[in-house]
Formats: sequence, structure tokens, C-alpha cells
Amino acid sequence: MPEYKIIDAHCDTVGFFCQETSNYDFLARNRFHHLDLPRLKESGVIMQFFALYISDEYKPVGSLAYCLRLLDSYYRTMQYCSDELQTIYTVTDLNNNLKNSKIAALLSVEGGEALEGELAVLRMLFRLGIRAIGLTWNQKNQLATGIGEDKPGEGLTDFGMQVIREMNRLGMVVDLAHINRQGFFDTLNISSDPVIVSHANARAVCDHPRNLADDQLRALRDIDGVIGMSCCPDFVDPAYATIDKLLDHFVHVAEVAGVEHLGIGADFDGIQEVIAGLEDVTGLPRLAEGLSQRGFSREEIDKITHKNFIRVLKKVLPV
Ligand SMILES: [Zn+2]
Repeated sequence: MPEYKIIDAHCDTVGFFCQETSNYDFLARNRFHHLDLPRLKESGVIMQFFALYISDEYKPVGSLAYCLRLLDSYYRTMQYCSDELQTIYTVTDLNNNLKNSKIAALLSVEGGEALEGELAVLRMLFRLGIRAIGLTWNQKNQLATGIGEDKPGEGLTDFGMQVIREMNRLGMVVDLAHINRQGFFDTLNISSDPVIVSHANARAVCDHPRNLADDQLRALRDIDGVIGMSCCPDFVDPAYATIDKLLDHFVHVAEVAGVEHLGIGADFDGIQEVIAGLEDVTGLPRLAEGLSQRGFSREEIDKITHKNFIRVLKKVLPV
């Protein structure tokens, strides 16, 4: 049994499920890509967020159909591992799952383009099992502006506000990774539920636009949210990213926002380059070991590796 229980709040692996040409097999241990069922089990991952990432070629036209194609490939793959992996939709599912030995899976969409400007689509995606949405990727869309097209004063749109309220009502997790600064604060102002930033790091440690500034980290704390620390080398240190440097990000967020608002969102299969020791999901326990060496208690490490995300999910998901 792996020593640490881990929740990873972001991977882009589903993108490989529906590539008929690729010989990737989620059920087998692959020598390429970052994540599959055998490696999840070996890592001690108790819950994996699976993002349906809307590729650029499907924006703005075709986003919903592509999202549904990814979702179809997810459910077709999951048929073959229902004894080992369980998609969770409610707090009851989560509680039951924590008592069995199956790995929990949470479905998210990365890119609000998939809604195609319709709250009806949001509600139907909820019915199809989606429980989190990353409002934007790096571009501007119908909901908000991504960090790649950031313009001061450009935040959440009217439609974006309607989406937040409807997600709060339905029981879906709002994910603010990739959103610009104005959209981040606009969302925190109107959301009645905690939000997450599934994969990003600390701006004070590495000045990358995808990372959160200290005032954003404190605002995230005030809404009882959680940020998942990413293993993307560019967000850790573009010059020389190491596990030790990534641990500096954990330490900083713990100091600024508190250990209750810190988690892991590795971004496996969404990153091209990897950090030595974090080449795939089996490296994640090294982060827990590193936190221990940095003086975090076992109780604090358990919060960071899984308990904080469980707290947020219990507050947000439908009963
Ligand atoms: Zn991303």
C-alpha cells in the first residue's frame, strides 16, 4: 500500500482515450505519456480529476461536439475498469468511495467554450456527469478572459456570471486556472461556494502569468478554496525546475494562504516537459516525502495531499 493518499486535481489524459491512431491503453502500463490505471494505483492516488480539454482547433466552432466525443471516450474506457475506478457525482458517492478501495474520478471540462453560450448546455453537461469546469483556457471566451489575452478591466461576462450562479445551484466546482486577474476576482465576488485553481503555482516564487499573486492566494483562502500545485516546469522555474523548487511554492502558499488551501494539480499529459523525479504520476509521493523533509507534520501533509480537496468537494457537490 502506498504511504500517502493523493488527490490530483488535473490531468489531460482523456485526450488520448479517443485517438484511434495512438496505441495508448489506459488499462495497461504505458512507456509513454504520464498516467494510466496501473500507475495511478502504484502512486496512491485516491482521486483523479479528468479534464476534458477543448483543443484550439475546436474553438470557437465545434467545442461542444468535441467535448462530447471526449466524454464518450471516457465512459467507454471506464466500462473496462469499473472494479477499480469509480466516477463520483455526489457527496454520497464521495463518502462511499472513501470507504472502498476504488480510485475516484471526477469529470471536469477545461474551457467554457464547450457551453457554446448556453446555460442549457451547462445543465445537460451536469446531467452527463461533469462536476467541474475550468471557465477559460488561455483565450477569451463567452464566459471570461484567459490569461493569454489578458486586458485590464476585462473580467467575467454577463454570461459568465450566470454560469457561476448556475454552477453554484447545481453543485459544480468552479475552476479558475488560466483565468485572468480581473475574472478571478469577479468570480470570487459572486460565487457562493468555494472555488479551486486546479493547476497553477505561486507568482512570488516564479513570475509566470499563470501563477497566482499573494493577494489572489489570500482571496482564495477567504472563500475557503484550494490551489493545486502544478508540476509544469515553466510555472516552477523556467531556468531550472526541480522538486526542491516546487516545494518552495508549497511552502510559500502555506505561509501566505495557510496549509488548508493547498493541494496538488500536476497537469500530467498536459505538459510537454517534466521535472526530474516527477516524470509521471508515480512521482507524486515524492512531493509528500519532500514536504515531510521541509518540516510539515503528517496531519498537514494529509491536508495538502487529499483532505483539502475533499473538504471543498463536500461543500460544493450535490448531496
Ligand atoms: Zn491547463
